[in-house]
Amino acid sequence: MKQMGYILVDHRASPGLPEDIARAAGYDPKFCGEGKVFEQDTMTCSHCKSVVVKNNARTRERAKCFECDNKEGHYICDGCDFIRREPGYVHTPFTKFIDDHLAVAANPCSTRDLPTAPGVTLSGTPQKLLLP
Ligand SMILES: [Zn+2]
Ligand SMILES: [Zn+2]
Repeated sequence: MKQMGYILVDHRASPGLPEDIARAAGYDPKFCGEGKVFEQDTMTCSHCKSVVVKNNARTRERAKCFECDNKEGHYICDGCDFIRREPGYVHTPFTKFIDDHLAVAANPCSTRDLPTAPGVTLSGTPQKLLLP
């Protein structure tokens, strides 16, 4: 199964990005100035669903999760790769995270905190939202 997407940023009819803004956003300025077109493959992490623009200059190996795809392995981002190497890690693909979240959120008797993905802040359980 193909696991890549595609991004196209077209500055053929715009002034493009200033060099400092381009660098802050992670672009090479020579590809996003006035009149330029930036095209690149993207990859989606199966654990957090972040979409990562592929860096063709990368020489380090990209992480794959063979629990998500036991044949070819599914791409996971560097952050999720770090987290899965922590002691006590429990495999949590995004679909499991959503299932766990909904199981807690849909239970009116639940007093547990909702599970959160790394970097995601939720406002709390429905009970907490009703408290003054
Ligand atoms: Zn990820
Ligand atoms: Zn996985």
